[in-house]
Amino acid sequence: MVNGWDTPSHDYDLIHQRIEVSNFDWDSTSFDGRVTTTLVAKRDGFDAVRLDMERKLGVRAVTGRANEALKFDRPGDTLVVRLPKAVGWGDTVRFTVAYHARITQGRGLYFFKEVAGLPHRPQQVYSGGGTDGNPRWIPTWGAPDDKATWDLIATVPARLTVVSNGRLVSDRRTGGSRVVHWAQERPASTYLISLAAAPFVRIADRGPVPLEYYVYPEDSALARPLFGVTADMIRVYARLTGVPFPWNKYAQVTVADFVGGMENVSATTLVDWLPDARAYRDRPWYRQSLIPHELAHQWFGNLVTAENWANYWLNEGMAEFMPGQYWGATQGRHAEEDYYLDEYQQYLQKDARRRTPLATWNSNNVYPKGALVLWMLQKQLGRAPFWAAMNRYLTSHAYGNATSDDLRQAVLDATGQSLPWFWSQWIYQSGYPEFSVASSYDTAASALVLTVRQTQRDTATADSTGIRFSVPQAFRAPIAIRVGTAAGDVVARVTIDRREQVVRIDGVRSAPTMVSFDDENAVVKTLDFPQPTAWLATLLQRHPDLWQRAWAIDQLAARPGDTLAARALADAAVKADYDATRARAAGALRRFSPDLAQAALGRAAGDTSSRVREAAVAALSEVGGEQAGEVVRRAWAGDSSYEVRAAALGAMARRDLAGARAAIREGLRTTSYRDVIQSAAIASVVDRPDSELVADVVAIAGQQPLAVYGLAALAARGDGGARAALARLLEDRRGWVREWAREAIGQD
Ligand SMILES: [Zn+2]
Repeated sequence: MVNGWDTPSHDYDLIHQRIEVSNFDWDSTSFDGRVTTTLVAKRDGFDAVRLDMERKLGVRAVTGRANEALKFDRPGDTLVVRLPKAVGWGDTVRFTVAYHARITQGRGLYFFKEVAGLPHRPQQVYSGGGTDGNPRWIPTWGAPDDKATWDLIATVPARLTVVSNGRLVSDRRTGGSRVVHWAQERPASTYLISLAAAPFVRIADRGPVPLEYYVYPEDSALARPLFGVTADMIRVYARLTGVPFPWNKYAQVTVADFVGGMENVSATTLVDWLPDARAYRDRPWYRQSLIPHELAHQWFGNLVTAENWANYWLNEGMAEFMPGQYWGATQGRHAEEDYYLDEYQQYLQKDARRRTPLATWNSNNVYPKGALVLWMLQKQLGRAPFWAAMNRYLTSHAYGNATSDDLRQAVLDATGQSLPWFWSQWIYQSGYPEFSVASSYDTAASALVLTVRQTQRDTATADSTGIRFSVPQAFRAPIAIRVGTAAGDVVARVTIDRREQVVRIDGVRSAPTMVSFDDENAVVKTLDFPQPTAWLATLLQRHPDLWQRAWAIDQLAARPGDTLAARALADAAVKADYDATRARAAGALRRFSPDLAQAALGRAAGDTSSRVREAAVAALSEVGGEQAGEVVRRAWAGDSSYEVRAAALGAMARRDLAGARAAIREGLRTTSYRDVIQSAAIASVVDRPDSELVADVVAIAGQQPLAVYGLAALAARGDGGARAALARLLEDRRGWVREWAREAIGQD
């Protein structure tokens, strides 16, 4: 069992660290550090302290309480401090490590200089190592199982603002410098220590705790519309979990070139892609997923922390689960199902590449499968018992650690449910049930008979580390099956738990018009269940659940010659009551002939939701027909959504519509959130090389690396103009352009 297996032993209890950092140098990416560590010995004869500390960090001296020099060794990426004499169980030890840190960019810290002419990139330094990064810039106990408090005192150029965890103790100017002192006064794991310094503006907001948004001055108008949702998210999370926000404040800090977000305790670090007003038409991922995910970590991950990284899913699964709960609580069931349908698709993709259980070292699916398993658990238990169990989990381990078995225990304590099969198949084993179902209707007996087989394979081979993960031969799946008939629905509750079993549903007095297998989508699965088109059409039209609708759409999409399938999809594309369904149905019409698909797609292209318009425009460009060109051109010229315009531009280029070249030229010059339009234009030039457009791509080479990469791709295919342009960019006066050009031709 993985629960405690991967937790490293150590023979002390880390209590407090005072971290002083100064003399940051952006040319040599270095600084000076001084870290005073207080810990309590957990054995008699304790004579040496081992901390994690990257080998490259140059230790100048280690001194004891009376400032006496202590001996030390540097085996591997650790620091071993030799105490002058052994101390006993429970004795307190304190020592100070002075060091000079030369940082490899991105290992522990990121340094960015201000570059004249490069917009949106002020000088900054920030920590961004994720779960293993902090020992790369400070000596500490890096594993998550020993929580401590800390002070962080940073001396930086006076024009920079320093953000860190906990409470701001002081912020003083001395000459050209500024000394900022933050104190994290509640214990937390040291991987959550954070430093971010840049010329931020601080925007204060009201919420259940003080809220702070730190952004570049040029982004200050974008901060409130984006982060303003935080207070409501905190209230909803506190209400659902029954646990108030656990820290004294919540800061959100935006930095350059970041992987996304990192939930540093009370001071989350986020990428500096703030959506502008128009981007909200496209439901930006930033607000939809990133903010609620990192916020959820303040409870799940930061208040209660996985004891080791083999149980990492406890952090990431819960953080990935919670946004769906927020959107469900505030926008209803379809918003909730929509969120988890996306997780389901991500999970299937990851599982297809590599199959691992949730709870294992290096699991590849802790985010989407974690979210889905918790959603299944919620459906299994019911909402109130589920939240009672989560409350038990959070309160029993507050400011401490937990393993997967602690979650099982919390569920048992709070609800009385032991669910051994659930934990075994979903947490410790891998895969999911792959159902293959056949049905036959027995008119005489008024019964529908389903033969249900589970076809998942246990591959029985070890992975590269020698570990073999088993896939259950038969998953246990408590599900409902709904049979629609002219006289009303018959719902049967059954437990599928064998490799093959026959399910007989009695009381079906007239021929079925629809069969919904796993009616409440209670189980993560794939489903192969050949059904008549009429059943699928009814399922799509009638069923409230988005997974059921998506499944029906995918079945219908595979019948492009079937006019009934086309009609069902066309209906859904235009009339379904939720935009994700309309968009999916519109996308599914791309394989149908113009006479079946064109009219519905034309109407869908005028939908109020941008995701439907985007799907319709993209599908129309594949379907063709006389309307298609006009609809696509109109979307490019006048749509209010960046994503729709980007899709329309790609469609015009793909179909080589009249005006495509002019549109691409305009697209290259059009600013949009995260450059989606410019990127679509560059991709169009690369896909259908047009030497007349090379100069237009060169003109934007300073704006984003994709332009330079695009030129490199064209040059590699023999475009002489692109090759000459790339050679000039290698000598460009702008340093960042030269760098992109070197990267693009692989000289990095
Ligand atoms: Zn996370």
